Amino acid sequence: MPLSETAVIRSRRVVLPDGERPADVLIRDGRIEQIAEHGSLLAGDQHLTDLGDTALLPGLVDTHVHVNEPGRTEWEGFATATRAAAAGGVTTIIDMPLNSIPPTTTVAGLEAKRKTAEGQAWVDLGFWGGAVPGNVPDLEPLHRAGVFGFKSFLAPSGVDEFPHVEAADLEAALAEQARIGALAIIHAEDPTVLDAAPQQPGVHYRDFLASRPADAETAAVARLLDTARRTGARVHILHVSSAAVLPLLRQAREDGVRVTAETCPHYLTLAAEQVPDGDTAFKCCPPIRDESNRDALWAALAAGEFVAVVSDHSPSTPDLKLLPEFGGSGDFAKAWGGIASLQLGLPAIWTEARRRGHTLGDVVRWMASGPASLVGLTGTKGAIAVGHDADLVAFDPDAAFAVNAGELHHRNPVTPYAGRTLTGAVRATWLRGRVVDVAAEPFGRQITRPAAGPVTRPEETQ
Ligand SMILES: [Zn+2]
Repeated sequence: MPLSETAVIRSRRVVLPDGERPADVLIRDGRIEQIAEHGSLLAGDQHLTDLGDTALLPGLVDTHVHVNEPGRTEWEGFATATRAAAAGGVTTIIDMPLNSIPPTTTVAGLEAKRKTAEGQAWVDLGFWGGAVPGNVPDLEPLHRAGVFGFKSFLAPSGVDEFPHVEAADLEAALAEQARIGALAIIHAEDPTVLDAAPQQPGVHYRDFLASRPADAETAAVARLLDTARRTGARVHILHVSSAAVLPLLRQAREDGVRVTAETCPHYLTLAAEQVPDGDTAFKCCPPIRDESNRDALWAALAAGEFVAVVSDHSPSTPDLKLLPEFGGSGDFAKAWGGIASLQLGLPAIWTEARRRGHTLGDVVRWMASGPASLVGLTGTKGAIAVGHDADLVAFDPDAAFAVNAGELHHRNPVTPYAGRTLTGAVRATWLRGRVVDVAAEPFGRQITRPAAGPVTRPEETQ
């Protein structure tokens, strides 16, 4: 849609912040200008798209994506990740600061990513920074340059160029982030607990699970909350896998600690009991735990204890996953830990959410407005509301499909959802009022933390 033109999208199931109802959504210049009664906006020379009973959702906001480019583009790149996002109904992603080389721990590293991503973004794209030992002086410049916050690991990250923080590094990083008003996002597993856990390599998932116990999460979260309490930093716990951390978070909030948490589709939809021997597509850290834990995560989600459900899309090449079907050993201890799911998060969550009696409005709160609020994008992203970017998704909540990993836009055909039947299909995705066509030129923009102001780039002012 060229600038200054209007369009109307009509659906009998528009998922608005206050519920689902039939409506017409008027779009002008890439923004939502009006939400009117169904059938009331007459198109005239406007362009009308009538979705019938297909639902209209806000585009999802996925604040936890590892793109890996530059440096490990063979794992995933900007083009493949953002096409997968668009095909999966995700219109904004925030890229994690590690697995790319260089990592996003300096302004130069951020600039390298921004430059590489130019012309390769089918959806809007922002960046997290990283807080690692020794880079406290880099945090304020990165914050000013528009990163959405800083990721730290409390245990080894899996890549040498992104070391984890010990207690003193964490204290220094959080103190600085409290001073500059940044959001600290934390991978919370405790290395001492991990070191003490039984290490039994091999193809049995239960052995891998025993090597990453829930105690590693609770110990790390307890230590983090202590440091947050002392420094006053605002902290966010990434990818909570064990429901045992939730009482700690509740108590900390009651004590006035500014803490939020997220969980991921794989912890909510998969369970340890179902992981086949050697199927390392299921390996991630912290690990997928048992069914009773999964039920407890759902209860917490329903109670509003998680601000977001985000993918933690963290793929690698099939050989590093050591997958038996690609000639690998299927050894969980040695395989790359990361789950590829960016394109599948919405149907995966919807399939399970619907079974548990949740609505599309719940899913939108967990996967669109919640993550948007986490990163300060409330007001432009994550809701169908007047003044917001017209980032929209046509979603058929009744369509079922079998996942064929080779047909996904992800760079590598590896996902634990392969072969599963999921319910809910993305029929179209709009970014700022324009239909995203993954076979055509991309028009995603690079975005920055709102308080940091826009990144001005000539190619964006077309
Ligand atoms: Zn991650």
